[in-house]
Amino acid sequence: MSVPVVTRFAPTPSGPLHVGHLLAALQARRFADSHGGRCLLRVEDIDVTRSRSREWVELMYEDLAWLGLRFDGEVMVQSERFGVYAAALDKLRAAGLLYPCFCTRSEIKAQIAEMGRAPHSSLGYLYPGTCRHLPPELVAERLARGDAHAWRIDMQRVQDLIGCPEWVDLHRGWQQCVPTEYGDVVLARKEMPASYHLAVVVDDAAQGVTHVTRGEDLFDATHIHRALQAVLALPVPLYAHHGLLRDNTGKRLAKRDGARSLASLRAAGYTPQDVQASLNAALANGGIWQV
Ligand code: GLU
Repeated sequence: MSVPVVTRFAPTPSGPLHVGHLLAALQARRFADSHGGRCLLRVEDIDVTRSRSREWVELMYEDLAWLGLRFDGEVMVQSERFGVYAAALDKLRAAGLLYPCFCTRSEIKAQIAEMGRAPHSSLGYLYPGTCRHLPPELVAERLARGDAHAWRIDMQRVQDLIGCPEWVDLHRGWQQCVPTEYGDVVLARKEMPASYHLAVVVDDAAQGVTHVTRGEDLFDATHIHRALQAVLALPVPLYAHHGLLRDNTGKRLAKRDGARSLASLRAAGYTPQDVQASLNAALANGGIWQV
């Protein structure tokens, strides 16, 4: 007996939805529909420092209604789930996999400059590990003093524990995750008590997501997600990373390109059918968006 397919569309309300979001939403919806499955909606609004988040969420619902896109079941809202993420962090902390990092961004930059080489991955710089092995008394003292810190995951320990687990991308086949490849990523900090990486794996599991369809810009992040699933003993979905929309010059469409926001297309008189037709035309033309 095969398991019913569950996909999700998980936008971050950091601005108005744009045509790239529509592509992601349709990929998830169509994948679910073609397998007789369900497509869920999740609002990834964990970054509570974004003052206009509420406004963008409201606009998102308007855009989705205008497009006639429907989702199944209840909407999951990440800003209501900090307790769940805190429990996952406690589990990792109890397993000795987290450490507090007191470095500021500029200190990290200086540390990297001093090393004379900048260990980098496609996800940015690799944290040089400065706070990984601080003496426990110093850590206790700094925590007691209330020094600002982030919680990082010790990926070497993770790798020692779980090795290099595999995951599947439906387009690219079997992948092997090397946990240390992307460095000790931040899982929480004071002003943002759960990072994207942590929340996404906890929530994909909580929503019973079987197939994650999302843009290929998140392909590398999936390695981090696979490592977190292993240490948190969460189920591992199948992944399908899709191509991104680009402009005529081949540059990826970005959120800041206001002209491609769904709200601006709507205001300019486009109908949902026009937008879908343009999207289909872009897909038939290697992802080049013409409007
Ligand atoms: N929230 C992410 C975004 O809007 C997508 C996360 C995901 O699909 O895993 O880019």
